[in-house]
Amino acid sequence: MSTCIGYGVHEANAPLEPISFERRALREDDVAIDIDYCGVCHSDMHYVHNDWKSTRFPCVPGHEIVGRVRAVGAAVNCYRVGDVVAVGCLVDSCQHCQACEQHQEPHCIHGMTPTYNGLDRISGEVTRGGYAEHIVVREKFVLRVPPALDPRFTGPLLCAGITVWSPMREHGVKAGTRLAVIGLGGLGHMAVKLGVALGAQVTVITTSPNKAEDARALGAHHVLLSSDPQAMKAAASSFDLVLDTIPRGHNVNPYLMLLARQGTLVLVGALEPLEPIHGALLAVNNRSIAGSLIGGLEQTQELLGFCAEHQLLPTCEMINIQDINEAFTRMHNNDVKYRFVIDMASLKTP
Ligand code: NAP
Ligand code: ZN
Repeated sequence: MSTCIGYGVHEANAPLEPISFERRALREDDVAIDIDYCGVCHSDMHYVHNDWKSTRFPCVPGHEIVGRVRAVGAAVNCYRVGDVVAVGCLVDSCQHCQACEQHQEPHCIHGMTPTYNGLDRISGEVTRGGYAEHIVVREKFVLRVPPALDPRFTGPLLCAGITVWSPMREHGVKAGTRLAVIGLGGLGHMAVKLGVALGAQVTVITTSPNKAEDARALGAHHVLLSSDPQAMKAAASSFDLVLDTIPRGHNVNPYLMLLARQGTLVLVGALEPLEPIHGALLAVNNRSIAGSLIGGLEQTQELLGFCAEHQLLPTCEMINIQDINEAFTRMHNNDVKYRFVIDMASLKTP
């Protein structure tokens, strides 16, 4: 066991504060990682606020982790001390079920182990995330950061990036695909960059008129204000794929109307009840509604390679860990451009 300092909460809605806890001793297939950077996901805020009534306290969030290997277990053969590595939203799964065999670890039939707020498969201890000095992770769940990627900006690819990349790949986004992205936040801005890189015609659908300029600067071809009924009506039946990143339950019907024939709306934001869906909107144009949960290890490594090749990185605002509560308030107030990343070296400053 080794003592680790991090930031977390002991109860719902409390401010994040320094917390000391134990990381497990290295198992033979474990990698110990010194954390350099950790992205701040809206899900971290959902857990801290216990929005999903499933938070195990004390909770140390963080699942967009980048760092350097500090030590490896006896059976580790892919990583060496000093390697630049990353850890995303999951740190274990059974490795034997059909989902795991098909590289769909998030859908492991025995349940994947989330990076924080999960239960370790062997010890049953609660997992704790990346707002911390270091972490111990099974080798299989460690990702390699390509040398061409700047580690400072790589963290958000591990959740925001893969969560939108995965449905884009599953739904075959390619040159000419008419893609709409609802919500220009952490997930949404990555969807714009990745969609543009894949050659799609990208439209941002936003509640924030002041984000239109940014959306275009990120590469979006069109911007649609969801509060403008005429513009929404004019865009009816015009998209092949709509990625919905809205972070809470909402009315999806106005967005379903935007789908062209056989188009699909993929929900990645709201992991909670939605307002009732009007069946006729699905029947017309043979539309579909789908969900998507992060992505498997292989696909995440693919994304890191794609981003290295295209020199495509998240747009980040670097913060010190001491500023995390202000960052949460700003995220709550929809004031993030477009992902906070914690410089974990700040943990050591008094
Ligand atoms: P974020 O950075 O806060 O961005 C969310 C964006 O949604 C905001 O920037 C805003 O964009 C829009 N928005 C916010 N409140 C809204 C409302 N009431 N109605 C309509 N639009 C609203 O959040 P994020 O980190 O991208 O995460 C988004 C959601 O995805 C969270 O709920 C998170 O838990 C979830 N998530 C899911 C997965 C998964 O595997 N499926 C993975 C990661 C995260 P505009 O200003 O442009 O409207
Ligand atoms: Zn996340």
